[in-house]
Amino acid sequence: MTTINTSKPILVTGATGYVAGWITKKLLDEGLTVHAAVRNPNNKDSVAHLIQIAEKSKGTLKFFKADLLEYGSYDASMKGCELVFHTASPFINKVKDPQRDLVDPALLGTSNVLESVNRTESVKRVVLTSSVAAIIGDAVDCQRYPGGIATEEQWNFSSTINHQPYSYSKTVAERKAWEIAGEQNRWDLVVINPSLVIGPGIKPSFNSESFRIIKQLGDGTSRLGVPSFSIGVVDVRDLAEAHYNAGFLPEANGRHIISAQESSLLSLSQILSAHFGNDFHFAKGTLPRLMVLLMAPLAGFKRKMISRNIGYPWRADNTKGIKALGIKYRPVEKSITDMFQQMINSGMIKDKRKK
Ligand code: NAP
Repeated sequence: MTTINTSKPILVTGATGYVAGWITKKLLDEGLTVHAAVRNPNNKDSVAHLIQIAEKSKGTLKFFKADLLEYGSYDASMKGCELVFHTASPFINKVKDPQRDLVDPALLGTSNVLESVNRTESVKRVVLTSSVAAIIGDAVDCQRYPGGIATEEQWNFSSTINHQPYSYSKTVAERKAWEIAGEQNRWDLVVINPSLVIGPGIKPSFNSESFRIIKQLGDGTSRLGVPSFSIGVVDVRDLAEAHYNAGFLPEANGRHIISAQESSLLSLSQILSAHFGNDFHFAKGTLPRLMVLLMAPLAGFKRKMISRNIGYPWRADNTKGIKALGIKYRPVEKSITDMFQQMINSGMIKDKRKK
């Protein structure tokens, strides 16, 4: 049981990110003091939206410069904190060098942050943003889990540096976090394992892969159809609530799958089509498996990834998150249409309905 003193500052690593933005907003709206650790506090483009939110809130925001790959980089921002949200980690599917671009920031970054935690006597709890990718590597892996459904008991066993390197980066980083947490008993670790995060950002655009995936459903890329991929989805606002509760509920512990429901690229397209009309060329069907396999390298995907995901149901049990963290998920229709509307409003997606 861990009780957090709300008069103490709270650290959010990677506060400039899509997920962290909503966590930071929630903390500020609750009147708390947030230490926002960011790579470049002087870059107005990446921090201006946080300053605006802080100005409208009851809370206090302070920026600190920190990089996952610099040893000791988080010491200053962690000073006096009892609670640390470690969200910083790249979420990109296509990278040149998976070790440098994904695994190092995820794994060395997590070690670096947690070594700062070990040095900072005030810290009582760390909430780590892992991923459901640390549980399920490819959809086909669900078949090896009891009843074909993944739970917090399972670990991704199939991803490697060469196959699904993002999922691999999240798996090794979370394993490292549990290892470091297990070597001491001053602070506890609570882990959040979200599925694909959707919903509007606290600003219109982020580097997160979430934006690239949803944009491709409506920018014409998917007009001929989408691969038959099954995925879990969760609203970014509900995910922020899950993080908040994981931070402050004294009894919170262990891993939590945070996923509103299982969906598919086709069903997301169909929701968007019903709401926004046909002018955006949303997919009306799925592409034949053979065609996707043949085209995969042209689109920058490996055939092994396609063959281990296309047509296989992706299933994860979200019961623990609902019960232990009290999460009430909003409908996926609301999340995806709010996000798409924001993309139209910001010009990220051209509104083809305008004459
Ligand atoms: P995002 O918007 O790209 O945020 C990533 C954050 O990590 C950014 O603040 C980025 O800082 C920071 N970062 C990256 N490399 C860094 C480095 N070397 N040093 C310091 N900071 C660094 O992505 P997101 O979707 O919000 O992801 C946030 C977390 O959620 C990640 O841990 C991700 O794995 C996890 N997650 C996301 C999803 C999803 O669907 N979006 C699903 C499951 C889990 P800059 O602004 O300086 O680039």
